[in-house]
Amino acid sequence: MPSHVVIGGGISGLAACWYLAKAGHKPVLVEREKRLGGVIRTDHLEGCLVEGGPDSFLASKPAAMELIRELGLENEVIGSNDHQRVTSIVRNGKLVPMPDGLMMMVPTKLGPVLRSPLFSWGTKFRMALDYFKGPIPDAPERSVAQMVRSHYGQEAVDYLAEPLLAGVYGGDPELLSADAVLAQFVEIEKKYGSLTKGILAGRAKQPPSSGSLFRTMKGGMEQLTLAMTGQLAGKIDRFREEAVAVRKSNFGYEVEMRGQKLYADHVYVCCPAYAAAQILEPLDGPMAGLLREIPYNSSVTLALGFEQADVEGRFTGFGFLVPKVERRRIAACTFVKTKFDHRVPPAKALARCFLGHAAADVPEASLIREVLAELKDLTGVTAMPIFTKVNRWPQAMAQYTLGHKDRIGRIRELEKKYPGLHLAGNAFDGIGIPDCIRGSKTAVETSQ
Ligand SMILES: Cc1cc2nc3c(=O)[nH]c(=O)nc-3n(C[C@H](O)[C@H](O)[C@H](O)COP(=O)(O)OP(=O)(O)OC[C@H]3O[C@@H](n4cnc5c(N)ncnc54)[C@H](O)[C@@H]3O)c2cc1C
Repeated sequence: MPSHVVIGGGISGLAACWYLAKAGHKPVLVEREKRLGGVIRTDHLEGCLVEGGPDSFLASKPAAMELIRELGLENEVIGSNDHQRVTSIVRNGKLVPMPDGLMMMVPTKLGPVLRSPLFSWGTKFRMALDYFKGPIPDAPERSVAQMVRSHYGQEAVDYLAEPLLAGVYGGDPELLSADAVLAQFVEIEKKYGSLTKGILAGRAKQPPSSGSLFRTMKGGMEQLTLAMTGQLAGKIDRFREEAVAVRKSNFGYEVEMRGQKLYADHVYVCCPAYAAAQILEPLDGPMAGLLREIPYNSSVTLALGFEQADVEGRFTGFGFLVPKVERRRIAACTFVKTKFDHRVPPAKALARCFLGHAAADVPEASLIREVLAELKDLTGVTAMPIFTKVNRWPQAMAQYTLGHKDRIGRIRELEKKYPGLHLAGNAFDGIGIPDCIRGSKTAVETSQ
């Protein structure tokens, strides 16, 4: 029976363990932290369920739901309260609701865009005119900003693309690759030119989708990783160690940890690309070099619990996004009670703020002070919170910058030189939880 080592115990590594165990193997999991789950972390404070990292996953990507079903947890899944889904964007210091019908930065209804104070008439005009654009079959790779600018102008970059993608990648649209991050839109552009026309044509062919845009676990996202670790008990061996190197050995691969070595026929490297680079340097320098080219940004979340009476009427809709051009500490804020049920008791309220890369090293007291001042300014809330919780995620968000697809293609080519070596994680084919699960599942399936 071939032996398997999985390095990294976030959702990617746990999913690799899950699918290996399902295939009848007993993998060894090497994770340096005591807690498994990586950036997935749920806390319970004053009766509130507080997500420290991801709070949900996209319903449209099936891999997460498939895994949840295998775990027998489908009855524990809840959807976002989409009937209350209004997200605002901060413009000149005011919360402006995003117009109805936007799919990411693409308007699918003209009326609401024309009536919205979010955009100038110049941008509205470009949005309307874009409908008449012809197909763009051979566009070279562009940044997200270049692509959006070519359709709707700079204002749509500043007030839509940047804040929307900041919530997912915590990154800069001038650096992110449209081919990697907005692949669906790039395909639409090739065929239709106009993004609006392409989206409407796609919708006409599909049955109307029912259900929520986002899903999550009733008990928080950590319910998923806790269920996985619980059901994997006895089916995996666990080393709480840092993997430092992978080398070829007579028996397949040698995995060196700080204190000891493991030998395996198959090694699944499921940690961030910079960590994978360090581990794989002794095996293949060029592969490590390419992995090192994938930058990561840090992210900080700050949850603030309030008495409901203190924020009554102030936390409406799902929350708000703050464009970088507005120069504030908060990048995004979710009003948790509105977005999901089972999170906040009736007498309490919870605001979950995302603070970008720049907040990574700012002391906690300063972050709380700055965020409270901005919340007061934007929502009028003057009350002190009943609790605060900061979670820092250093170098956690892979940035799919220009050349990403090509870089990944070259890494995958080099990977083929090493039968039994498998790379997965959020650097490769999507940063979201379903993408990470799918990547690990594919790695296990191709190894069987
Ligand atoms: C704040 C935040 C909010 C997010 N929100 C969402 C969301 O709402 N929905 C969504 O779908 N996605 C979201 N994401 C993205 C998604 O959560 C992550 O991309 C995904 O969870 C990454 O999983 P992973 O296992 O690949 O990596 P990680 O979770 O980073 O896990 C990697 C693990 O590898 C371990 N490790 C690293 N180096 C070594 C080594 N040398 N030896 C041993 N172990 C090592 C680390 O300790 C860690 O446990 C969010 C991410 C963040 C940070």
